[in-house]
This record gives sequence, C-alpha cells and structure tokens, in this order.
Amino acid sequence: MNYNSTRNRRLEATGCAAVAAGIAPDGGLYVPEDFPHVSPDGVRRLASMDYVGRAEHILGLFFPELAGQPMHDLCVSAYGGGKFDCEAVAPTVKLCEGTHVLELFHGPTCAFKDMALQILPGLLTASLRKCGEERKVCILVATSGDTGKAALEGFRDVEGTEIIVFYPQDGVSDVQKLQMATQEGKNVRVFAVKGNFDDAQTGVKIAFGDESLAERLDRAGVFLSSANSINWGRLAPQIVYYFSAYCDLLNEGAIRIGDPVNFCVPTGNFGDILAGFIAAMMGLPVQRFLCASNANNVLTDFIRTGVYDRNRPFHTTISPSMDILISSNVERLIYFLSDCDDKKTAGRMAALKADGVYRLTESEQLLLEEYFYGGFSDDAETRAAIASTYEKYRWLSDTHTAVALSVLAKYREETGDETETVVVSTASPYKFADSVMEALDGEKHESSPALFRELSERTGTPIPDPLAGLEDRPVRFTESVERDGIPACVQSALT
Ligand SMILES: *Cc1c(COP(=O)(O)O)cnc(C)c1O
Repeated sequence: MNYNSTRNRRLEATGCAAVAAGIAPDGGLYVPEDFPHVSPDGVRRLASMDYVGRAEHILGLFFPELAGQPMHDLCVSAYGGGKFDCEAVAPTVKLCEGTHVLELFHGPTCAFKDMALQILPGLLTASLRKCGEERKVCILVATSGDTGKAALEGFRDVEGTEIIVFYPQDGVSDVQKLQMATQEGKNVRVFAVKGNFDDAQTGVKIAFGDESLAERLDRAGVFLSSANSINWGRLAPQIVYYFSAYCDLLNEGAIRIGDPVNFCVPTGNFGDILAGFIAAMMGLPVQRFLCASNANNVLTDFIRTGVYDRNRPFHTTISPSMDILISSNVERLIYFLSDCDDKKTAGRMAALKADGVYRLTESEQLLLEEYFYGGFSDDAETRAAIASTYEKYRWLSDTHTAVALSVLAKYREETGDETETVVVSTASPYKFADSVMEALDGEKHESSPALFRELSERTGTPIPDPLAGLEDRPVRFTESVERDGIPACVQSALT
C-alpha cells in the first residue's frame, strides 16, 4: 500500500511513514495511491463483527505493515477497553422511517474527535517504531477547545509520548477550561496562553520552527510532532464508522446488501465527510454525501458553483467546531476529482494561499455534484432543528448535528430524494448545553455543571460520565504563559 503527496505523485511513502511524518515534505497531504476494495460479501462479513473487528479489518487494509496482531491490539485498546460508554462504540439510532443518526459521541470527551484520537497515539507510536525512530515524541497542540481535550485523553499515559496543550486564556468556555485543567495522566501538561486562539497557535508554530529548541530536545531524546487532522492517522480511523453504520442498517433490516444510502455530515475541516467519500471509493454503496455547513458556508458555494472562495466574512456561530473558512481536507478531495493531478492541486493550493480562491473545471464540478450536495443553516434554523427533533422523536441533538438535521430537511424538500439516510452526529448535546437549552426554552444560559443538571431533568437524558462530577475533580494545571514564552516552556517541560 503506497501513499503519495497530493502535490507530488512521485513522492511515495508507506502508511506508517505517512503517519510518522504528518504532512508531506512538499507541504501536500498524504493520500492512498489505490483504494482497497471491499466487496458486498466483505460488507456482509463486517456486519457480523463488532466495532473492534470492523476497525481491525478496514485499518488493516490501509496499514498492511501493521495487519494482524499489532492492528488487533491497537483496535482493542482504542475501542474495546471500556473507554466508550456503550459497547457498540458508534451506535446508529433510528429517528423515523428513512432517517438514522450515527452517534459518534460515546468516547471519553463526548465528541467525534475521540473516534480518531483514541487510536492515533497507538498508530503513531507503532508507525514511529516501524520507521526506526527511537526518540520520544512530544505532541504540541494549540486548541480552541475540543481537540485539545480529545488529544489529551488519547495520549494520556501512552508509552513513548508526551503531550503539551496550550489553550487561549480568553478563548474557551469554563467547562472546556475545567475539562483540561483536571486532565489526568503522567505524560500530560496543560498551559493557558495569555491572549486569544491566534496567540496560542502562533506560539506553538514558533516552537515548531525553533531550531535551537529542536537541537536541545534531540539531545534529550525527544522530538516534536502534531496530531492535527491533516495527518492520515486521523483520517483513516474515520473510514471505519461509515462501513459500520451501513452494517448496522443491514442488521436492522432497514436496507439490503447493495442498497445505496445517503450520509449527511456536519462539516468543518472536511475530514469527517472525506473519510466517507473514501469509504464510497472502496465500494460502500453511497448515493450522496450531504455536506452541511453553518453560516460559514464556503463549502456550500463550492459544491454548487465549483469556485472555492474564502474571501468572505467569518461568522461566530453556535456550532463553533464548524466555524472554518479553509477546510484543509478539501485538498485531498480536489486531488481525487482532478484524477490525481498533482500539479493542478499544487497550483490551486498556491492560489488559495495567495488570493483565497480557485476554480474547478466544469467536468470536475459535475463530478463533485454527483457525489455531494451542499447546504447550510443559520443559528435560528439550527435551534429550531434541535427543538423539533426533540419534540418529535425525543432525541436530543447538539448544535453541530442539528445543522445536519436542518440541511437534510432542506435537501429532501428540494430533491424529493427519500433514500435511507444516516445523519452523522458529532457531539453530545451536553458539550454545548447552553445553546441546546436555549433552543428548548428560548432563554440565554451559561454552560455550567448546574446547567447540565437542568438539561438532564428537563429532557430525561443522562449527563455523560466524563462531564458529570467535573466540579469535584482536582485541578492539576493552573500555569499560564505569554505567547513568546511557549518555546522556553516546552524546553523546560521536556529537558
Ligand atoms: C471537528 C468537529 C466537526 C467538523 O468535523 P470536520 O472533520 O472538521 O469536518 C463537527 N462537529 C464537531 C462537534 C466537531 O468537533
């Protein structure tokens, strides 16, 4: 199994090398050279397995050098060890005839990033060993909230790794702050950065680019790496749950083998939905991917017109994990749409960087529209979707999933397409309790443990364990640093 860079097809790597490197040396993203095929019989076999078995099989196709016992062990420790609060790991729930939700929020931080970040540390350390790397890896993360916590939980106490997370002092909610400050694990550190998210991110970038820091760390047997969503190791685990959802629908009798389904995905960086697209390229019967955006609807326009134009106002919405104008994984999509034209892809990425805009050819755009539908919903529509879904089906949606529910309703109205549809649900409603409560009662709220109890009483839904009792956990991390002090802080933590 070979991987290429989206900007240079001649650049080749194994899956393990791609994961160990993160980004390709030419700045491109690693993509598989061919898609392994899963036949209808293969899907039937997957349907008889549990989530661990499904993950082991699909990931084994992409990492043949880890197939067999090593991949089995990785999948068991990520998905089999009681870290998820339900045995199915990623269960599908039927809302009504034709509509199902795939719940990806049963992990230790109650959001879908756990699906990848629970297995990435194991994949990464196994990949580093395959590449002959003997030093310890230290993951640096600048976070605006959810990724930091999910990465901390994933890397905590993983042999051969350290993780340091920097969050903006003025840029995360009290609940998010408390989640990170109470993080357990021997190899974790958390710092507040004086400033906003940009300050945290800039400070971390300075640390990555600091050669004298790298030298000192090297002498101490450590090197720095990142765990962000352009790493193939974040994407590959997400392919699994598309197959898994299809298998669940088969097992329930909602579809028969070979029937196409739609997936409706709340989208930000385009990682989640791209993993679905890869599943379809592998043979999973998918009619269409509905790409759901909030008011930052750059992807809706892209799918409808073939022009990607980030020159537009940035909106802060109630679905913050989708407040993104440059969706980095689109690079992988346009590479595939252009029939793996690396020069074209590199040119478009250069244009995006220089002018904020690029354009697909007509035939590429037609292909894009064949696979994808683009739609968006504003905050008012999103709140209305939370309220109506709860009223009709007694299923409580978070703000991100509600964008998808709202876009699905628009899609059906526009197209009349009644194909069996899976809505990908990316977070527990308790993660965004303030906005969810407001959707139900029309009042303003602050997220707090007290609000969790109120939401639970009102809706009869349980507070997820990782969020319950948050106030009673001991605070371990209280230090803050200046933006420019981040490299020194990394050095003193690691040497
Ligand atoms: C990250 C995230 C998304 C967006 O996923 P992408 O892979 O970036 O498209 C949607 N919802 C939630 C809750 C998220 O945390």
